[in-house]
Amino acid sequence: MMNLKNIAIIYLFGVLAFSCKQQNKAESSKEEGELIFARGEMINNENFTGTAWLNNLVQADSVNQIAAGSVTFEPGARTKWHLHPAGQIILALEGVGYYQEKGKGKVIIKKGEVVKCPADIPHWHGASADTAFIQIAITGREKGETVWLERVTDDEYNSIK
Ligand code: MN
Repeated sequence: MMNLKNIAIIYLFGVLAFSCKQQNKAESSKEEGELIFARGEMINNENFTGTAWLNNLVQADSVNQIAAGSVTFEPGARTKWHLHPAGQIILALEGVGYYQEKGKGKVIIKKGEVVKCPADIPHWHGASADTAFIQIAITGREKGETVWLERVTDDEYNSIK
């Protein structure tokens, strides 16, 4: 026989189960349909370590001498060291990423933050070790293509400096 106490206990379990489900959803990575820009194609070249995706949003042309692309890095994924002859701006759309210029400490980038990479300065960027990262990279093209350098080693990637 269901008394009021039993009903209250069943109700509480229901509320707990529902709130756990909501929390799991908030912590998991976003579904494709929730993204601002589609994640694009998986990057399949030597310039990246780990799994990353690229959606080329804007190609440079005679009117706009910049390119803009959305890059999704899965946790641990990153670029090689590289430089941009006309610099780059990184807009952090989602998650937690890393950015490092040669000779400087690694910087943590979070959703909503902006990084300006100076022209000709070697650097790398990517996801943090445990959280994916989505960036829009706006890259000046009037002075030439990105110059790709050596791989970012695990020691460099994991360094807390
Ligand atoms: Mn860059």
